[in-house]
Amino acid sequence: MSRTHRRMRFITIRDIEDLPQLSRLSAEDRFAMRVVAHVFPFRANNYVVEELIDWSRVPDDPIFRLTFPQRDMLKPAEFGALASAVRQDARTEIARIVASIRGRLNPHPAGQADDNVPLLHGEPVAGIQHKYRETALVFPSAGQTCHAYCTYCFRWPQFVRTDALKFATDKSRTYLSYLARHPEITDVLLTGGDPLIMKADRLRAHVEPLLQPEYDHIQTIRIGTKSPAYWPHRFVDDADSEELLRLFERIVDSGKHLALMAHFSHWRELATGTAREAIRKIRGTGAVVRTQAPLIRHVNDDARAWTRMWTEQVQLGCVPYYMFVERDTGAHHYFSVPLARALDIYQAAFRRMSGIGRTARGPVMSAHPGKVHVQGVTHVAGQKAFVLALLQARDPEQAGRTFFARYDPRATWLTELRPLAPDPGHVQAGHILSTDRHSGQRRQLVPRVSVSSTERQTP
Ligand code: SF4
Repeated sequence: MSRTHRRMRFITIRDIEDLPQLSRLSAEDRFAMRVVAHVFPFRANNYVVEELIDWSRVPDDPIFRLTFPQRDMLKPAEFGALASAVRQDARTEIARIVASIRGRLNPHPAGQADDNVPLLHGEPVAGIQHKYRETALVFPSAGQTCHAYCTYCFRWPQFVRTDALKFATDKSRTYLSYLARHPEITDVLLTGGDPLIMKADRLRAHVEPLLQPEYDHIQTIRIGTKSPAYWPHRFVDDADSEELLRLFERIVDSGKHLALMAHFSHWRELATGTAREAIRKIRGTGAVVRTQAPLIRHVNDDARAWTRMWTEQVQLGCVPYYMFVERDTGAHHYFSVPLARALDIYQAAFRRMSGIGRTARGPVMSAHPGKVHVQGVTHVAGQKAFVLALLQARDPEQAGRTFFARYDPRATWLTELRPLAPDPGHVQAGHILSTDRHSGQRRQLVPRVSVSSTERQTP
């Protein structure tokens, strides 16, 4: 596919009936999309629709599944009730059902709202999360939307205009004072939504203060973005593309490391000339492009797709970084892949890569205690077990720790794992805390045991 200059046009639920590409779907399927879009935010754009989706393969096309609402994202009873209310245009009832469904979807997984928001002078700091000692997440207020929305996004509450569910910096910009007072923070991740939805001058207002001497402790500025996949024109021929690239250069010239944490879900997002040119231009500024994505059923639950994606990323000079596990939020029942299968997919993809492409860690859960890496499966005292490790930890002392959990082929998240049966010969003191996503209580303890190198099965 070759690059063509274009202006961005958002496609929303109001366009569903008029979008020519969707005329191949039945009226019932289009209605189902409209019903589901009452709960989950929907937004695509002309680049996604015209260049990324292969409409001859719809509804199974991975980019279509990635961006357009699917009926089974709601459970049958939820869908039935909401569809009935939508048919009757019963607005109060629609609002009630939508609020009820959203309330059950674990809108802030992994303690984002309760445990990650720091205090300054005893008050919560708006628009920042500080979960890991070295890294702070900043949510610029103008960067809390995206060029298109992923159907599986764990940040879905950011887009549904429920202020109580939204993280965003405010006018006081207190987060800057917080960052200045915390010299242990070496990395700032600008995130959203997608911060690169902002114009370059808005982004500059968040970045330039960090280049001042009082922020010398911040060595790395990361920008979490899906723009190279959903709107690569952002770096190529938008009105302020050059201004954006010069800002990247300025960060690099200041001596800080600039990492674009680029979200690519499928190799098809790398296949257009515009996407490739965007990556070339970003790398030309001195920024490093690190790539990451969750493993998603219906989208990329296929080892060959990951091998091809990582291979092409390496060819383009990117660094594969993470294969995440789909978070326990939103339509988790529809998108989740059991941990055991995720491990199989990761290992099969990993084995097909040369050494230089084996940089992605996975499958990894961004869970309440930290980033939990599913490293392998082994046997401990006759019990089949997952080998897990904390790559990052809310409690810095736990980072790097390995532990076991009972093998369960159906488990999809840390909170579904259970301890090994007690075995005084292996189970040591010390536990990894986990939070039950239904009750909110920290009730699950996964005993940690020593792991010898011969017991571990890493690929
Ligand atoms: S681009 Fe990122 S923040 Fe935006 S919808 Fe997709 S996963 Fe969510």
